[in-house]
Amino acid sequence: MPDRRTVELGRMSWQEIAEIVPDNPVILIPVGAVEQHGPHMPTNGDSMIAEHVARHAAEASGAFVAPVLNYGASLQFRGFPGTVSIQPHTLELLLRDICGELVRQGFRRLIFVNNHGGNQQPCEQVARDLRREHGVVVGSIYPWNLGYALMRDTYDDPTTVYGHGGEPETSTMLALFPEDVRIDLMSGSEPNRSGRFTPRKAMSVDIEGQDIGGTVYLDYEEFYPNGVTGDPSLGTAERGRIWAERVIGYAVDFITTYARATATADPSPSA
Ligand SMILES: [Zn+2]
Repeated sequence: MPDRRTVELGRMSWQEIAEIVPDNPVILIPVGAVEQHGPHMPTNGDSMIAEHVARHAAEASGAFVAPVLNYGASLQFRGFPGTVSIQPHTLELLLRDICGELVRQGFRRLIFVNNHGGNQQPCEQVARDLRREHGVVVGSIYPWNLGYALMRDTYDDPTTVYGHGGEPETSTMLALFPEDVRIDLMSGSEPNRSGRFTPRKAMSVDIEGQDIGGTVYLDYEEFYPNGVTGDPSLGTAERGRIWAERVIGYAVDFITTYARATATADPSPSA
């Protein structure tokens, strides 16, 4: 936006923030996680990407960005050093407090830019409570997940490369934070097939006599010793630039649609 010094609330003074409240702007709330993403990627990647997407989408759409919430619910990765998980209930309480503070100050248009699957349920719970208690309609943008949907045409077979610490995560990090990617360690690993269950994909296991897999809640390292699913070796900075363009482009359209739909007065709660 033309005459704005910054879209980041955390870099604005209280007076600058007070000035924007009457405009009822859309506030993006980036949520990440501190967790392993394989030997080649940093543990703070979910948060770094959430913050990056939120900031660029805000700059292009007229929204503002709250300070990123760095910690998330990463229970399945606690076997890896560097993973610092909070309980889903703790995250829910944190998000309730953060959103409650924003609503109390008069911000009524909120969008989570959550970049980690384990955070989805707490985000939804808080969003539904805000709807019921304050009439606020909360949106949700999930960059990694959007990347899975928007990048399929760039791979011969997306199913073999997509994954945690695989693609398109590796490409994205190579494009946006190249200094934090260990190119020499960009490889997948064979899943452990010697355990009680045979892994198919992520947390899905083979079920005898069936073509579709089943879910068992083992810890990640029991299936994937180096923490990676998919194939990071196809990662390139060029593909990462395409990711950023498409995902941020989607986020801008999402915010524009949301802003238009919530422009007129307070929608009332449904129940
Ligand atoms: Zn994650």
